[in-house]
Amino acid sequence: MSGSTARLDAIKAINAGYKVESMNFAKTPVTELYGSNVFTDEVMKDRIPKAAYKSFQKTLEDSGKLDESVADCIATAMKDWAIDKGATHFAHVFYPLTGSTAEKHDAFVAPDGVGKCVTEFNGRTLIQGEPDGSSFPNGGIRDTFEARGYTAWDITSPTYVLECDNGTTLCIPTIFVSWTGEALDKKTPVLRSMDALDKAAQRVLKLLGNTHVRKVSSSAGPEQEYFLVDNNFYYARPDLVSSDRTLFGASPAKGQEFDDHYFGAIPDRVLACMMEVERELYKLAIPVKTRHNEVAPGQYEIAPVFESANLATDHQMLMMYMVKRVAKKHGMTAIFHEKPFAGLNGSGKHLNWSLGNSSQGNLLDPGKDPHKNTQFLLFCAAVISAVDKHAGLLRGAIASASNDHRLGANEAPPAIISVYLGDQLNDIFEQIRKTGSAATSKKGGVMDFGMSAVPDLLKDAGDRNRTSPFAFTGNRFEFRAVGASQSIAGPIVALNTILAEALGEIGDTLESKINGGGDAEKASMEIIKELVDKHWRVVFNGNGYEDAWQDEAAKRGLKNLKTTPEALKELITPEVKETFKKLNVLSEVELDSRFNIYNEQYVMKINVEANLTEKVAQLSILPAAIRYQTELAENAMSLKAAGVEGDNTTLKNVTGLINSLVTAIDALKKARDKHFEDLAEEASYFAATVIPAMNDVRDVVDALEGIVADDLWPLPNYTEMLFIK
Ligand code: ADP
Ligand code: MG
Repeated sequence: MSGSTARLDAIKAINAGYKVESMNFAKTPVTELYGSNVFTDEVMKDRIPKAAYKSFQKTLEDSGKLDESVADCIATAMKDWAIDKGATHFAHVFYPLTGSTAEKHDAFVAPDGVGKCVTEFNGRTLIQGEPDGSSFPNGGIRDTFEARGYTAWDITSPTYVLECDNGTTLCIPTIFVSWTGEALDKKTPVLRSMDALDKAAQRVLKLLGNTHVRKVSSSAGPEQEYFLVDNNFYYARPDLVSSDRTLFGASPAKGQEFDDHYFGAIPDRVLACMMEVERELYKLAIPVKTRHNEVAPGQYEIAPVFESANLATDHQMLMMYMVKRVAKKHGMTAIFHEKPFAGLNGSGKHLNWSLGNSSQGNLLDPGKDPHKNTQFLLFCAAVISAVDKHAGLLRGAIASASNDHRLGANEAPPAIISVYLGDQLNDIFEQIRKTGSAATSKKGGVMDFGMSAVPDLLKDAGDRNRTSPFAFTGNRFEFRAVGASQSIAGPIVALNTILAEALGEIGDTLESKINGGGDAEKASMEIIKELVDKHWRVVFNGNGYEDAWQDEAAKRGLKNLKTTPEALKELITPEVKETFKKLNVLSEVELDSRFNIYNEQYVMKINVEANLTEKVAQLSILPAAIRYQTELAENAMSLKAAGVEGDNTTLKNVTGLINSLVTAIDALKKARDKHFEDLAEEASYFAATVIPAMNDVRDVVDALEGIVADDLWPLPNYTEMLFIK
């Protein structure tokens, strides 16, 4: 009986080695490389007239409108610069609601009528593009015959050239809207939410007596986790290829229980790949800073230094693209799925988020004596109140079929949104709640090891809490429930918008208190106390992984939305609609469209997985099991003929599992065969019925993996995928 040799071939191929292009940072120092493919401020300054440059800068600073002649000037400079760098084409890059990146390429080249060509690119083509909108999800905003969609240049995100082996393309970050002006993308609401936050924050800062207040912008620093799997295994796993996660796979003998992978030495091959990723990102001025092994075997992390939220969002998308692309060159596939391997930690994307400006600095920086820093405490209280009021929205903003596997699985925060403040801040707010003001701040201090070889350390005022979905981490909040494959745009929009709303309300109260003759400092303290008193239930400093927290949260009235269909409903509640409309971030129509699209994506995703489960189980697993069963049966017969008494336990077990598998596949088929008019209803049905039916098939397959002869097993197993590189 012969099985597939795919697995053995894969291992042989990996052993044969792979070739890496060698890089030499000594020859091209990183400082020279950095930003070399970006049309930076400096390049622009060099290449366009002074007046045009000044006008552009003014537009950036005042969030004003760009002058057409200035746009022409910039376009010409950009084209020349890109052509110098080997470009023949330009592309408007946008972020449709599929969650991925889309780009339409057009050549600079135009025939000159006498057999040669000229290159052209003007302000209009820089600013505006018109991709066919009908192929992107719109969630019911328009009928497909009304297909017009526009892309429009986002001047706050620099253009760049993207290299490939055969040349470069000038990439222009854009928004994407329908002919009727509705947002069809992820960037538009990010920009709108940044404007809303800027306005609300500036007003509060001015009311607090700051005379010189610059534009406030939100900042984001996303930490990206991912897995790397050798291509030879990857391509032998149809589930990984089509759904980005293993739909089957028994636990390996050795998993992550030794905790020996986290921060372990990075394997050479992986390090070489990481370095190449970093080099490519440096060229694009993406400030990657951190690299390390993560908890699960085969899992890694890459994190940049934070940037303005809009830029960070674009850069995050580019970063994922680059990790995937470079990994392929190194014979590996990068997997961003939130839970590619059952029983092992999944991947998240911690979103570090704050706000600030050049006049006041980081507004969530507590400073030396936070209890005296009323401005900081006021902004913090605003965040706490916003998160409590809109916890459902935040849960909705990170909802996806793949992230559902991770939330609440004792490796990532639970589906309950709560805020962790840490000892110091918690103590200050407790003081304010008791007495209306705070007199002290807990101090960090110095750690003296009493060893001459080790210098003293500065100790933070509070420890960390890894189990909280939304934690204050010293000078920012860290939204830890974001999934590894998600764009950070959604969570950023949600955070900026709800904070803008809270600051707007604070501004109103502050203004009326001050106008009534009150002192800004005193008025602020009153507001802080009122806010934290009202919203204290959302603060939780304990262990979020414990079951007790689920009960406690229920008592506090906090939502615990375990599945995406439940969580998505939070995007279209009357309160959310009002908030988003009031702040001009998303209209009711736009929110409804997103709700539809995300439900549809959920259903499609699970449907693909269910389909794959069925196919792989039927076409690969069942045949392998039957071959083994036949082999055992033949063996039993020969033994019997020879008069030897054999033990038929394995044959019986295999037969039992084969029968169960046939039943489970059939049940899954039936579960999928149901049709709905309403998308949200369909999504709930999939969560309640199709996923459990898929899990039933998996359980049997994984049991078979533990009993069928290894040389007959068709799929690379967990040990192979996770440990062989
Ligand atoms: P850890 O894994 O310990 O949480 P990392 O160093 O991996 O920390 O990531 C911290 C992230 O937080 C980095 O991307 C960092 O730039 C970012 N960050 C720091 N300050 C801010 C801020 N003010 N706003 C947004 N992000 C910030
Ligand atoms: Mg972190």
